[in-house]
Amino acid sequence: MGIVGTIHDALTRESASTEATSNGAYWCDDCDVRVRDVAVESEGLDRDDDGTPQCPDCGSAMRFERAHADGCAC
Ligand SMILES: [Zn+2]
Repeated sequence: MGIVGTIHDALTRESASTEATSNGAYWCDDCDVRVRDVAVESEGLDRDDDGTPQCPDCGSAMRFERAHADGCAC
């Protein structure tokens, strides 16, 4: 029980920390396209010289918007 519980805790903590690596999302205001920062690679988006993802529809640089993880709007 003790060992199994420890492994379960470790696995749970692992997946939770993976979720927390998302700091926000990239937007294209013209196309209304939204891609989470952690999904840029899996979506196959190109990046410009500054590393900013480019909109898959129109090809312009996307705007980064931070997630309000702590619920504070200020
Ligand atoms: Zn666009």
